[in-house]
Amino acid sequence: MAKDTPQTFYLKDYTPFGYDVESVHLTFRLTPETTRILSRIRFAPKPDATDSTFFLHGEDLTLISARIDGQAVTPDLVEGGLKCEVPGTPFTWEAEVEINPAGNTALEGLYMSNRMYCTQCEAEGFRKITYYPDRPDVMSTFTVRIEGDEPVMLSNGNPMGQGEGWAEWHDPWPKPAYLFALVAGDLVNYAGAFTTRSGKEVELNIWVRPGDEGKCAFGMEALKKSMKWDEDVYGLEYDLDLFNIVAVDDFNMGAMENKGLNIFNSSCVLASPETSTDANFERIEAIIAHEYFHNWTGNRITCRDWFQLCLKEGLTVFRDAQFTADMRSEPVKRIDDVIALRARQFPEDGGPLAHPPRPEEFQEINNFYTATVYEKGAEVIGMLKRLVGDDNYYKALKLYFERHDGQACTIEDWLKVFEDATGRDLQQFKLWYSQAGTPRLKVSEDYADGTYTLTFEQSTPPTPGQPDKAPRVIPVAVGLLSPNGDEVRATEVLELTEAKQSFSFDGLAARPVPSILREFSAPVILQRETTNAERAFLLAHDTDPFNRWEAGNALAKETRVTMVLDGDAPDAAYLDALEKLVRDDDQDPAFRALVLTPPSQADIAQTLHERGFTPDPQKIYDAAETFAQTLAQQLETSLPRLYAATTADGAYVPDAEGAGKRALNGRILSLLTRLDGGDQAARQYAAADNMTQQYAALAALMKAEKGAAQSQAFFDQWQDDRLVMDKWFALQIACAAPEKTAATAAALTRHALFDMKNPNRFRAVMGALAGNHAGFHHASGEAYQLLADNLIALDTLNPQTTARMCAAFQTWKRYGTGRQSLIRAQLTRIANAPDLSRDTTEMVTRILDA
Ligand SMILES: [Zn+2]
Repeated sequence: MAKDTPQTFYLKDYTPFGYDVESVHLTFRLTPETTRILSRIRFAPKPDATDSTFFLHGEDLTLISARIDGQAVTPDLVEGGLKCEVPGTPFTWEAEVEINPAGNTALEGLYMSNRMYCTQCEAEGFRKITYYPDRPDVMSTFTVRIEGDEPVMLSNGNPMGQGEGWAEWHDPWPKPAYLFALVAGDLVNYAGAFTTRSGKEVELNIWVRPGDEGKCAFGMEALKKSMKWDEDVYGLEYDLDLFNIVAVDDFNMGAMENKGLNIFNSSCVLASPETSTDANFERIEAIIAHEYFHNWTGNRITCRDWFQLCLKEGLTVFRDAQFTADMRSEPVKRIDDVIALRARQFPEDGGPLAHPPRPEEFQEINNFYTATVYEKGAEVIGMLKRLVGDDNYYKALKLYFERHDGQACTIEDWLKVFEDATGRDLQQFKLWYSQAGTPRLKVSEDYADGTYTLTFEQSTPPTPGQPDKAPRVIPVAVGLLSPNGDEVRATEVLELTEAKQSFSFDGLAARPVPSILREFSAPVILQRETTNAERAFLLAHDTDPFNRWEAGNALAKETRVTMVLDGDAPDAAYLDALEKLVRDDDQDPAFRALVLTPPSQADIAQTLHERGFTPDPQKIYDAAETFAQTLAQQLETSLPRLYAATTADGAYVPDAEGAGKRALNGRILSLLTRLDGGDQAARQYAAADNMTQQYAALAALMKAEKGAAQSQAFFDQWQDDRLVMDKWFALQIACAAPEKTAATAAALTRHALFDMKNPNRFRAVMGALAGNHAGFHHASGEAYQLLADNLIALDTLNPQTTARMCAAFQTWKRYGTGRQSLIRAQLTRIANAPDLSRDTTEMVTRILDA
């Protein structure tokens, strides 16, 4: 079969749908292989509509019959849907279609996971359920009847009634089809309740498979906290009588904000101290909040088209970050987010997949659920808030909800609200939405007669389709310290609008030490000549916690880069600074853990690449090992005391304080294991009563190649728990030495519990392979080949997950010619695979064309 010619969609081509959809009635007759769906949809032509034919999306559907106002019609089945002659006045469209949920391994539309029916409709999955104008700007109320043998049958909105073999639901809030959801299966609920601030009682449920009820309490508390927080901070209340969450094992994404019926990847909602790490708990709390917050930012106000995806995602990621900062630690959350941004978004922005937060074209929208749309989209909102100030930000948000409730909006609508609320012109700021690439900010400085001057020059490297960029508005938060460490100028936001611009501070008694880009006030790469002595000074004295960490992180990178390039030993001054900080019990354990966490090897590769060097993954790995070994030896006498001092006593509580302490304890244990041959880690493994400590001990042992017995014990203990087994699969690959990584992963793909159809398991293995930097880029090229083999195999089952995982190859051009030709060969092999999906074709083509 010939491949489809890929169609490209453009933002500039937007045209509204010619009809209003006044109501949607759906009846589902569920059976695993032959589910029937009857639709009854009321359409009304818009006043200016002239076309007498309409187009409805539809994919993988068998049309049984169609009627208009009760009269049978024979629509034209065309690529991607159907066309039909329709009246010029309001009419009722009825259709019956048949689909095969059990055969749906792409996990889009209606599919089955562990004998349970569930749906995923964002972005374009609803067209696999029935013929419909499947676009976010078509909003309607939905009434749904489900017929089947399943004990529990759920859809959006409020329950209308149920009986033996049927259930009916009605969602009074008009919504686009991508927010439609249906779940049916043998499920049990963990119940809760919430009273909104206006006194409305809301019933809450987390629906799980029998046996998982014990893993719902944390998620339920997170949901209640989210509901309360959104009332307190944004003044937003929940708007239905019922809020349901369902945990599903086979799911392409993290979770989905369907109106009143959120569907979660079970890894993002199920939690217990025995099976989940501190990191899992924090992530679950954040994702539950994120999906809940979408009820307003996404559902009540949605996107006009998929080019505007960052309108809902950037804002909701920003809101969930605010929530986590409030629930836990603001500086720690900011540092974690910047680490993630640099690890995921910066490589995307600097490579062949670079695109603006609001892209202007796509072939497959599923390929644009990216770090740029989500995380950079959130950074753009953070900058906007910094520029207009907190009061103006909340004033603008209030106007946004008043003006646009019930609408499908654009970035222009969003910015207009800020312009109207604050009187500010945001024309130049808007470039953040249309330009790709990470701006470089070059800093120079001058001091004379008590006046200190900072000069910034901004530039952004070319990205695909965008060779030249105009200067953007960049908020640069700056504070100044005196040479004795006192802050002589509190944080001030400098507003950079030109390509080159200077700012002066006068009345200073001595040349200050600048602390630039505090709180990481803009997603840019700072380029400034400085010394390790100054970085150490800021690590000790900066009053901005983010920049204190940043100074330590820069020191760590400089040390590592010098080791790689010159073969030097680690910088002694840096080791001393680290030792001093780690031993200082007055410092926050979470902060100490972060400073002790080395920059990732991929980050070092990126730094080398930016400075014009070709990174050698093996050398970067060797430097990391040497550094850790040297640090362990330097701390040798303190490690046992530090280990004891940071070992938590009392029952496990997954709060920020306990998590910080355990994070530091885990870092100490990994260093200690380099010296004691794993004795302490083995004792910790044997004694651990929670997953955080069990996992930390196992990781330390496996890294030291001393964990065979514990790995087997871990398998025996947890083989029936799919989520814990994902950790077991991933950890073996993450801990493998570079020359063993590919073979370890290959062996695991032959394991009885490896299941390619389960995205979590696939990502556990292939994600860990791509994440082991030196192992993935081992000169043999075996890991490249293994990943390509698996992507080709998965593409026939699940194009969406395949396409996303192709991004593992996006940085290929930064490596040497040998690795480049090995990767090119694998990318070409994927591109030429028979019947390659539209999703994967687009990704591989973009990566190869760079
Ligand atoms: Zn979202």
